[in-house]
Amino acid sequence: MQKFLPLSKPTISNETIEEVINVLKSGWIATGPLSQKFEEKLSEYFEGRQALCVTSATAGLKVALMAIGVKAGDEVITTSLTFASTANVIAMLGAKPIFVDIERDSFNIDPNKIAEACTEKTKAIMPVHYAGLPVDLDPIYEIAKAKNLRIIEDAAHAMGSEYKKRKIGTFGDIQVFSFHPIKNMTSGEGGCIVFDKSLTKEKKFIELQRFHGIDRSIWDRFSKNASCYYDVVMPGEKSNMSDLQAAIGIHQLQELEQMNERRRFLAARYRKAFAELSEKISMQAEPEYEFIHSGHLFPICVKDETKRDDFMAFLKENSIGTTPYYMPLHLFSYYKNTFGYNSGMLEHTEYVGKRIVCIPLYTALQEVEQDYIISTIKKFFA
Ligand SMILES: *Cc1c(COP(=O)(O)O)cnc(C)c1O
Repeated sequence: MQKFLPLSKPTISNETIEEVINVLKSGWIATGPLSQKFEEKLSEYFEGRQALCVTSATAGLKVALMAIGVKAGDEVITTSLTFASTANVIAMLGAKPIFVDIERDSFNIDPNKIAEACTEKTKAIMPVHYAGLPVDLDPIYEIAKAKNLRIIEDAAHAMGSEYKKRKIGTFGDIQVFSFHPIKNMTSGEGGCIVFDKSLTKEKKFIELQRFHGIDRSIWDRFSKNASCYYDVVMPGEKSNMSDLQAAIGIHQLQELEQMNERRRFLAARYRKAFAELSEKISMQAEPEYEFIHSGHLFPICVKDETKRDDFMAFLKENSIGTTPYYMPLHLFSYYKNTFGYNSGMLEHTEYVGKRIVCIPLYTALQEVEQDYIISTIKKFFA
């Protein structure tokens, strides 16, 4: 019997495992020297920009929104074809997520529809680089500049993605990355917030907010020469990254390019194999601007929406994991009940939302396994 091929699984090297064991033996597993080192490595990776680690991208997005002053009554523009946390963090601050439609072919937010969604209350725009395909950022940054808005890029899928020869995270306003194990790079759980070093106010705020509003890190307090006294200057969250997580992240960052290369190689094989199924399924369109896809997810649209559930069930019976990433957020009960959203609002998001399925893509997926997935999919549509 075919062994189960999941949607995703992390690849953890032996060096990573050894490093984790060393941390466990070191006597210090909370936030400490390795978390600091991870932030330095990330800062290098992002060409000298500031990188602050947190426990998740969700925590990072929330803290970043707070850092730019998003509060009750504000509006934040984003996409509905995304994971719950993108809009949840907006709503948790009492602000209103304004969902702008996607492009039917790229599955990314449509930059041409953002300006008309702006109101007096708009504070920020949160584009999501869906699946790892960079959003067309230039026009969005132009709108933000003209209207004096901030941009927080939900870059949870975009470690290693590039837009017009620039790595996501090396330019723009604020980016938030996820190191959840399902993503293309992991630290067990975790995330980081990236921005320009000139944003000293935001840096200070995020450092306080991620750790109880305490004005010095716990590592400082418990190391030999530190004072044991501290001040609480605001009520803060508890979303600091541990050294255990950082130990994983440091190695994954070193291995990222190689892992993404493997993902892109497998994605290209899928693309080639599915070219003949263009009447049955569509794939994420490749934009005209120069880009590099991280290869986080491989989404396809089952054109006949009535067949999607059968398709996923058929793959499951054949030991292949899939998931409908994402069900549009504006159709979940909280968003319907709270903001009066409903179906009919976002044409392309709803079209894609009914048809989209992500299929397995991860570095350890073997070519013979992928060939099996491809032939199973072809069998379904035959
Ligand atoms: C996974 C994900 C998040 C949240 O990441 P966590 O690290 O799990 O909090 C946010 N946005 C998008 C688009 C995601 O896919």
